[in-house]
Amino acid sequence: MPGQRELQNEFSWSKSRDGVFNTCLRAYYYHYYGSWNGWRHDAPSDVRELYVMKNLQSVPMWTGAVVHDVVRQAVQALGEGQPLPVDLALVSAGQRMQRDFEESRTGRFRRRPNRMCGLLEHYYDLPVTNESLQETMISVGGCIKRLYGTSSYQKMLHLGPNSVVEVEKLESVPLCGCKVWVSPDVIVRSKDDSLMIVDWKTGGSAFSEATRLQLAIYGIYAVQTYGASPQSLLAVEENLRLGEEHVYPLKEWVLEEARKHVESSIRKMQALLHDRVRNIALIRDFPMTDNLVACMGCRFRRACERA
Ligand code: SF4
Repeated sequence: MPGQRELQNEFSWSKSRDGVFNTCLRAYYYHYYGSWNGWRHDAPSDVRELYVMKNLQSVPMWTGAVVHDVVRQAVQALGEGQPLPVDLALVSAGQRMQRDFEESRTGRFRRRPNRMCGLLEHYYDLPVTNESLQETMISVGGCIKRLYGTSSYQKMLHLGPNSVVEVEKLESVPLCGCKVWVSPDVIVRSKDDSLMIVDWKTGGSAFSEATRLQLAIYGIYAVQTYGASPQSLLAVEENLRLGEEHVYPLKEWVLEEARKHVESSIRKMQALLHDRVRNIALIRDFPMTDNLVACMGCRFRRACERA
């Protein structure tokens, strides 16, 4: 379109990027380079297809996305002084799931893969039975009901709307000479000005190293953005599926470890670039993994002919 500026593929870092990089270099290439510009109407068909694959979600990922979306609505409503009743939150989740499922089943998501839900199971012709769908809906409902009983939600309710500092804001923070993307689920301010970073989880495990790293990076963001001191920072993982709560103190050494991890990860990613200044990567430098277990759950297995 005349006058429209082309988006530049600038190098940046995120925890999820790090995860893909460490799982399979070919998947990393497809995700961050091969599918670039795939949203354009004039994109070559193979680039467009990689872009469609990049945006697919498995049923567990979809479950997490729906829960996060409804929890965000509930916390935002609380921050506006009008808490969302649990029955309305459940209705909202049910409607969203029905809409998502139809967009995926009918293939409508292909029109706007980044805005509509495309399930990996539909794309790869895997069965999604009514029973498993029912189970997913029950699981989502359980997570939403548990939200209202968590100590984090109760704390925000008790402290009032002004305690909600930000909710799922996509922001970046400069780190190791690079833009690092962050999106904490909620940041809560207590009466004594200390900050609590809350991370909602819907998976079957809790208290992992990956979560510790993620929360430490959010801690760095909170220090840089709100001038918080590590002594007055706390992170909480609320596992809404398991009904568990885990507290992570964000001491200075924890933040320093996270900084070192980010720096080393950036270095490894940039070492594989063909042109580091222009952020250009060549597929030949990003081999397919030998770990076929990783392929089984991968969005790109059609591109690799491992479907
Ligand atoms: S299918 Fe396997 S080799 Fe191909 S991108 Fe996915 S994980 Fe990597």
